[in-house]
Amino acid sequence: MIRLPNSVILSFDVDGQRVFDFFDNSNKDILLEHGLPKAVEFLKSNNLDATFFTVGKNIIDFPKVHEKLKEFEIGNHTYSHPYFLTQKTFSEKEFEIKKAHSIIEDFYGTTPKMFRAPDYQIDQETITILKGMDYRGDSSIVKVLVPFYLRYCINYFKQRSIAKDPFEIPLTSFFLPFNGTTAIFYGFELTRLIFEYLLRFNKVININFHERDFVNIKINKAGFWRRERALETTLKFLNYMHKRCNILSFRQYLNQYH
Ligand SMILES: [Zn+2]
Repeated sequence: MIRLPNSVILSFDVDGQRVFDFFDNSNKDILLEHGLPKAVEFLKSNNLDATFFTVGKNIIDFPKVHEKLKEFEIGNHTYSHPYFLTQKTFSEKEFEIKKAHSIIEDFYGTTPKMFRAPDYQIDQETITILKGMDYRGDSSIVKVLVPFYLRYCINYFKQRSIAKDPFEIPLTSFFLPFNGTTAIFYGFELTRLIFEYLLRFNKVININFHERDFVNIKINKAGFWRRERALETTLKFLNYMHKRCNILSFRQYLNQYH
């Protein structure tokens, strides 16, 4: 019996350091400037496409680094990356989505067809807006079952109907979000074991990284901290996934499976 290879949908949420809002006034973004080129380098050297969920305001303020993403699929990650998008009014949500949408169209000359909500906080109103704009899908649901991550937990249980909608392509979870950031926390070997375990039950793994996963520093209110082996762990895991599975962007996945 021939076993078809598994697939990984690979995406990057391009947040920048501004999401840590205490650095909002900075006109320099070390996460974008150092992290993003590393992600691009990995994809180009392996001849892969992936989806970059970009923030409209970041494209305007840091055009040079965003230019590097020109040949990849660009997704919508809102205009200003507001946390708690679900608590905003319908027209505020619409503004965040539509403004980012037109910035992406102007800058990249392509129409975004995929959306990811900041901090994975999605609701039915946002889905309605996206469907009205002819999006092909949303990928914001993350199934978190650990009450410690309260807002993820609540969002998952509140939005289970979205998870059942074929419009939604949920991120693959392992009790906690299973993404680049947690992979750095687990370390390569444990991440590899979780990934292999997930492959037993999932034909397709939907995983996201951030540009900050490629930078050996961590930012918090106290400032910048060295984060050992982040870049090394991220690249090692990406290379492992690439050896093991077909890596696809959302557009490649949707063209193949839908
Ligand atoms: Zn984000």
